[in-house]
Amino acid sequence: MTTTSTEVVVIGGGQAGLAAGYYLRRAGRDFVILDDQLTPGGSWQHYWPSLHLFSPAEYARLPGWPMPTWPNGFPPAPHVVDYLSAYEKKYTLPVQRPVRVAAVHRTSSGYRVDTDTGSWNATAVINATGTWSRPFWPSYPGMHEYRGTQLHASNYRTPAPFNGQCVGIVGGGNSAAQILAEVSTVADTVWFTTRPPKFLPDDVDGRVLFEVASERARALATGGGDTGGVAGLGDIVMVPPVKQARDRGVLHAQPMFTTLTADGVRGGDTTDKLDAIIWCTGFRPALRHLQPLHLRSDSAAGIALDHNHVHGEPSLVFLGYGDWTGPGSATIIGVGRTARDAVTDLVRDVLD
Ligand code: FAD
Repeated sequence: MTTTSTEVVVIGGGQAGLAAGYYLRRAGRDFVILDDQLTPGGSWQHYWPSLHLFSPAEYARLPGWPMPTWPNGFPPAPHVVDYLSAYEKKYTLPVQRPVRVAAVHRTSSGYRVDTDTGSWNATAVINATGTWSRPFWPSYPGMHEYRGTQLHASNYRTPAPFNGQCVGIVGGGNSAAQILAEVSTVADTVWFTTRPPKFLPDDVDGRVLFEVASERARALATGGGDTGGVAGLGDIVMVPPVKQARDRGVLHAQPMFTTLTADGVRGGDTTDKLDAIIWCTGFRPALRHLQPLHLRSDSAAGIALDHNHVHGEPSLVFLGYGDWTGPGSATIIGVGRTARDAVTDLVRDVLD
């Protein structure tokens, strides 16, 4: 296996990795983007087919080149995949795939990035691996005794397999609301959440969320304190299928069950017989390859960061994981701002 040298290795070729690539290219740096997928598009190529953005295309742009408009409402996931594919071609970003990063080690001059096709020596690493490859399953008593189907939202494709069944949907976020909206067109559904779901007002979509996240970013950057960002507004964007589910009267959550039984779930005095349970319980950052670095965890948000880099280690940058790595940074439009700031800092503090 070969060892190659470059200034920066970007790990992950989804929207965050591409945004980093745009600014590295603009800064004239030597870099490579390593992505373990066969084709471009990051996690967008794996979302369930009916998933649409929660904003119009104009509000889902990466730096430099806007997403082509989508004529009827909010664009579907394949439109995003096409955009990301065209984006990396347009800027001739040096993406290598499929290349899976197995481990990152510190060296005297920076890092050694070990992959399944060889190693890279680099002065700096930008970690942009997203969360999709690490679905989170909570642990409940009886999970192994339950005889129905259990799947995570990351494996959900269409409602067809649930036709005529009774299906439990677990989770209080957008994935849960959207999957419930769709499954409830062919099945009876029971929605379980650990706290009452918080619906955004009907007129709040990705545009408003971006403005609020931007306000927070400005306030934090200018020392104006934390405005709280989008978290205080609510969680669930009322995209058309979710509004329709509300109109059909199926958008009612009940408190989380405590135990799974052989044929359903039990909580308090109630039991529900369920043919299937869909766990819409989120994801965690995909960081296993960083284990050799023994990064220090901070109780609130994972690894302790200063802006976008590891505390005390400006050459190791994290991009695209949500509020932890910058307001709005897990969105297509928001990641550009954090990528720009991260690359500016990296060039000034490490590479020049
Ligand atoms: P990803 O897209 O996951 O890209 C990371 C890439 O790194 C992947 O290709 C992955 O395979 C690769 N990778 C991981 N580990 C390794 C490794 N060890 N070696 C090499 N490669 C690796 N955002 C919006 O802006 N608007 C929306 O409307 C919207 N709706 C959403 C709806 C749902 C249900 C979900 C789940 C997310 C939504 N998002 C939306 C958020 C957005 O899609 C994700 O946050 C975004 O895809 C993250 O981009 P990323 O580049 O950080 O990660």
